[in-house]
Amino acid sequence: MEHPSKERTLVILKPDAIQRSLMGEIISRYERLGLKLVGLKMVVPTAEQIEGHYTLDPNWRRVTGEKTIKSYKDRGLTPPSEDPLEITAKILKNLKKYMTAGPVIVMVWEGAHAVELVRKITGGTEPRGAAVGTIRGDFVVDSYIMSDTDDRAVRNLIHGSGSVEEANMEIPHWFEKSELVDYKVSREDVMYNKELGDILP
Ligand code: ATP
Ligand code: MG
Repeated sequence: MEHPSKERTLVILKPDAIQRSLMGEIISRYERLGLKLVGLKMVVPTAEQIEGHYTLDPNWRRVTGEKTIKSYKDRGLTPPSEDPLEITAKILKNLKKYMTAGPVIVMVWEGAHAVELVRKITGGTEPRGAAVGTIRGDFVVDSYIMSDTDDRAVRNLIHGSGSVEEANMEIPHWFEKSELVDYKVSREDVMYNKELGDILP
């Protein structure tokens, strides 16, 4: 089995992150957590790439619709539809427009619990409800009410893989094997090495 410190996750800085000049801020948050960047590219995605990305997980349509319905109900509001798939069809159409509007940065980050910890410090999908201290909570004012009013995707700066399985499908969707770099950074010794990297002579 591969050492757990080798877990990898896919992160996309969405067009609003680039336009709002937040790429340095966001990258520094993953970096200071202790994750290691092992792949990076800037692209203007096609609609096919985006649809492909979001439908890699056969459950994504259902789960995303259910999550949206729950978020409305939790606030005592009536969701736009009771059918998760109907909700997601609209989300996907709007997501394609959002994600192809300009350049994005696609990255692979590696480290212990990379998938879970990126999600944790990124914050919940709907920025309005995202916890204080998370990237979405600190930098975004958007909400489902806003995005529904204007029939658009909610702008939340970042995509991060939802699970290890999702990451394992998403990484090859965006990167050739040869585009990912295997290397060491010295701080890994103190983070992961049993002997703390032999600090004393
Ligand atoms: P991502 O997959 O982008 O990391 P996520 O896993 O938090 O974010 P998903 O549920 O997978 O969110 O939805 C993907 C993206 O679709 C969201 O990041 C958001 O931009 C958009 N989106 C999701 N639900 C809604 C909604 N109810 N209304 C508008 N946009 C939505
Ligand atoms: Mg997702």
